[in-house]
Amino acid sequence: MRIQDLIEKKKQGFAHTSEELKMLLDGAVKGTVPDYQLSAWLMAVCFQGMTDAEISEMTDLMARSGDMTDLTSLGEGTVDKHSTGGVGDKTTLILAPLVASLGGKVAKMSGRGLGFTGGTVDKLESIPGFCTEFSSEELLNIVQKHGACMAGQSGNLTPADKKLYALRDVTATVDSIPLIASSIMSKKLAAGAKSIVLDVKTGNGAFMKDLASAEQLAEKMVTAGKMRGRNVRAVLTNMNVPLGFAVGNALEVKEAIDVLQGKGPADLKELTLVLGAQMLALALGEDERDARIRCERALRDGTALQKFAQIVEAQGGDPSCVKNPERLPTASTVYEIRANKDGYIFAMDCALIGKTATLLGAGREKKGDSIDLCAGILLAKKTGNYVHKGETLAFLHTNRVEKLGEAEWMYREALTFSDVPPEKEPLVYKII
Ligand code: URA
Repeated sequence: MRIQDLIEKKKQGFAHTSEELKMLLDGAVKGTVPDYQLSAWLMAVCFQGMTDAEISEMTDLMARSGDMTDLTSLGEGTVDKHSTGGVGDKTTLILAPLVASLGGKVAKMSGRGLGFTGGTVDKLESIPGFCTEFSSEELLNIVQKHGACMAGQSGNLTPADKKLYALRDVTATVDSIPLIASSIMSKKLAAGAKSIVLDVKTGNGAFMKDLASAEQLAEKMVTAGKMRGRNVRAVLTNMNVPLGFAVGNALEVKEAIDVLQGKGPADLKELTLVLGAQMLALALGEDERDARIRCERALRDGTALQKFAQIVEAQGGDPSCVKNPERLPTASTVYEIRANKDGYIFAMDCALIGKTATLLGAGREKKGDSIDLCAGILLAKKTGNYVHKGETLAFLHTNRVEKLGEAEWMYREALTFSDVPPEKEPLVYKII
């Protein structure tokens, strides 16, 4: 078959064979299939979709298009966690040490922030000396010794996905559930863990704005992973309000340490417990309720905090920051935004709050931009809170004083006030 025949086949709504998908993806990586044909095929997928068998095959082919991390030497308890991205989501920083302290093996490969969402690698780099670049051998050694390592994506990981994602980005073909599911799961398969817990976020600060699409994406990812022999579970969670109070790298690390110290915001702690229990249940075959109780105890008695200090040290970071988070970098200016009227905060536009943090220096508009690890926002009030005129809404942390006016305007735009309280939304919608 020629590539144009494959495009025609998908345009007509038929399913591809494994050989056909291999031909397309090999051609994408080698550069023998031109971008215009790949783009036409991607658009056909957007309109016609893919069967579960096609998604599973495509996921596997993209995973195998580059380096595959072999974690078999770590045994059966390897577990990965992935979030589809949100604002203020620092759960990985807490979950890696927490799950490692309870017997799971977490070889976590994370990304950097882009657009309005943050990235775990940037957050970790706000700890002085913390290194996220390791060879697979070094990564395995750290996990073997300490139970977890939080690294950046290195080597030649899923080049077929890289090629397709770059084309999708400029051809309006990102928002296709089969393409998103195979893209995310190919990276999870290549990362090597036997068990995978997915945090699929839905809401105004998430990739998936409505619950039905998030649920569909979660189901496709779980099915694709299971079809490739992995234990997979997805937790559907709310992203209509930032998670916790901190948005921005060093601020988020401080808040993660708060939770590891048995304190911290209730929503962040609850999501950590839900995800942690799922990770342990999948990786170690534990009862979920028992796993949650063990997680609660490890946060309360300092076991998880001690593990975090060990991992920070093993990755070259200054472990004294864990005991004394005030040693983390701080911004030159902290600017207070006060309410100019009374009322309930009825809604928060998380994407706009993420963009405000980016403007203050916490994020990057495009790949390769430099960021300011101290910049960000510390929220004082969230959706559902009643605010009196003059009360603090948030603190803006920045070294870019010239941006404060625009940032304040943007932050105020992100809040909707009302005389009546909003209906309370669940933090966790469903586990699939
Ligand atoms: N994240 C990914 O890695 N891939 C997608 O397609 C969308 C979000």
